[in-house]
This record gives sequence, C-alpha cells and structure tokens, in this order.
Amino acid sequence: MNAPRRGKPPRHFADLSPEQRVEAVTALGERSFRAKQLATHYFTHLTADPADMTDLPKATRDALVEGLFPPLLTPVRTLEADGGTTVKTLWHLYDGVKVESVLMRYTGRSTLCVSSQAGCGMACPFCATGQQGLTRNLSTAEIVEQVRHAARSLSRGDIAGGPGRLSNLVFMGMGEPLANYRAVIDSVRRFVAPTPDGLGMSARNVTVSTVGLVPAINKLAAEGIPVTLALSLHAPDDELRSELVPINTRWSVDEALDAARAYFEATGRRVSIEYALIKDMNDHAWRADLLGTKLTSRGKGWVHVNPIPLNPTPGSIWTASERSVEAEFVSRLRSHGIPTTVRDTRGSDIDGACGQLAAEEE
Ligand code: SAH
Repeated sequence: MNAPRRGKPPRHFADLSPEQRVEAVTALGERSFRAKQLATHYFTHLTADPADMTDLPKATRDALVEGLFPPLLTPVRTLEADGGTTVKTLWHLYDGVKVESVLMRYTGRSTLCVSSQAGCGMACPFCATGQQGLTRNLSTAEIVEQVRHAARSLSRGDIAGGPGRLSNLVFMGMGEPLANYRAVIDSVRRFVAPTPDGLGMSARNVTVSTVGLVPAINKLAAEGIPVTLALSLHAPDDELRSELVPINTRWSVDEALDAARAYFEATGRRVSIEYALIKDMNDHAWRADLLGTKLTSRGKGWVHVNPIPLNPTPGSIWTASERSVEAEFVSRLRSHGIPTTVRDTRGSDIDGACGQLAAEEE
C-alpha cells in the first residue's frame, strides 16, 4: 500500500536558514556550533551520513541526523545515456510520490535539471508532465536533495568522466517553479549561499524556467538574487500561445515579454526565450519574424532565443519541425539581431529530455 499522500514532507536541515539551523540544533539539546559542523558536512562534503561526521561524538551525530536529516529521496531507478554522461534518476519521495532529475555532463560544465513539483498544473498539451496534473509541491529540502545527490555523485567520480563539480542548475524538470515560489526561492538561497552555509554556486548558473507567471516574475526580480530567467513562450501570438501554454489566457504574450524585459532591467541577466519547434504548428517563418519584432521592440541585448526541437510525448500527434524549417526559423531570428541557439536534446533516448519527464508507474 502506498503511504497516504497527505501533509508535508518532514522538516529537513536543508529547509532551514542558517539562523533556523542554530535554533533547531539547540532545540535538540545540542550546542549551537554543531549547526555549522552539520552545514559543513551537508553542503561542503555533501553527506548526511552520521558515519562520515567523525568530528561529532557518536551519540550527538546520531541524534542530530535522526532529528534533522530524515531521508526524503530514495532512488528507485537510474537510466544512462551518452556514454554515462547523461543520467536520469527516478526518486520516490517520503509519501511514495515520484519525481525525476537529469544530470548532463559536458566538457567544462555539468548541469542538473531539477523538479520543483510532482506533476504540474499548467497543462501545456505538448509536455509529458503537463498531462499528469499537479500532485503536490516539493519542499525546499526535496529540491535541494536532488542537487546534493547529483553534486555528490559528480564529486565522488560516480559519473563518467571522472570526479567533477556541479556547475549549473536548471528548473526544467517536472513542475512550474514559480507556482511553488517559496520553496523554489529558498532552495535557490541554499544553492548560492557561500559554503558552508550553502553550495556556493553562482546565481547566474541557476536558471528558473517559467510559463510566464507575471506577478511571480516581478517578485523574483526584486529578490536580489540574479538567477537566469527562461520564459517558455512557444508562440509570439496570443491565439496560438493560449493553446500551447494555457496560462496565456491569464497573462498574454505581451505581458509575459514585458515582465521578462523588466527582469533583465532589474538583474542585468539576459533572459532566455524557450521555443519548442512543433511541425506546422508554431514553426512558420512569419512567426519567427513576429517574435523577432516583439523582442527587438523591447530593446537590444536583453534576450536570446532557444529553439528546442519538440520531443514528441507518447500519444502526441505533434512532431518536431523539419530541419530546413528549423534552420529558416533560426536564421530569421538572427536576421532580427536576436542571438539564437538550438537547444540540444540530450537524453531523449532515456526520456530525459525537455518535457519528457513523466514518471511512469512500474
Ligand atoms: N514549467 C516550466 C519548466 C518546464 S520544462 C516552464 O514551462 O518553463 C522546461 C522547458 O521544456 C519548457 O520550456 C517547456 O515548455 C519545454 N518542453 C516541455 N515539453 C517539451 C517537449 N515535449 N519538447 C520540447 N520542449 C518541451
């Protein structure tokens, strides 16, 4: 029987700010400096195993780990592609809910694609996760734990290519990150806080991808954490975008683009526009021109476009655009002066590529 899908995941060290960690440690009857020791083990050594914490007395570490490091993520399956440099992990959460994350190693950088929700409520018809509906939000620690596990695998040399470091994170796994704002922003704080309070990653190497929840984009712009924003546009006109990204009926193309432009103003971070190219759906030359016009009318140098060849999801009637059509789409955008790079489709053979994360039942 599955455990009941109710309530919140148990509180975990990674949910807590440095101040809250001190409170939690003292509430367990331990000295406050233990909080820093635990943070060093967790964020620097990437471990939550009491056996590794040899600078703490045995009874102390057992009590602290039991109280502050409940197991949140259990790996149920891993799939590899690209000679082991792409690894998809299917996780069971404490209540039996499943999510996935995908690690992609390139020369000189490693990127983890993380999930922020189990399922998704945004219902984009071309996206595998969108077909499932929303099961629940992940907690901060459930997000951080995906990252800690990946960083640990890399640092221990478990990933093809020898020991390495996790450099980049993209919130492009399951879920709409800005619909789980609090947990996502708190996880970002853990990622960018200098070690040992956090993982010491650079905010610019963290990408938050959104369907375009305008008030949340504005809020993110005011946080003072210059993460990279990706806007999943997929169409430059409201008629088609409302079909592909249903939330467009709430915040239109122009409203989403205005918010993206304001995000650039506030953070100085160039925004990415995501555009899944779907054959005969949104890949017309005139749409490339309309997109080019809408972007350049809002200024220069603030945006680039990532066309993504559609990964057809099971049962979908849609396919990726023809190569020649894709090439024309790209060259039209470039002729408007818009930097444009086609996204690679790493991991598509293990259903680990964009929009294919849909944890199927065994
Ligand atoms: N909810 C966030 C994160 C989703 S996944 C968002 O919508 O931005 C990251 C990207 O993959 C999004 O741009 C999403 O639209 C895209 N995507 C989803 N399904 C896809 C598919 N089948 N083929 C190509 N890209 C897809």
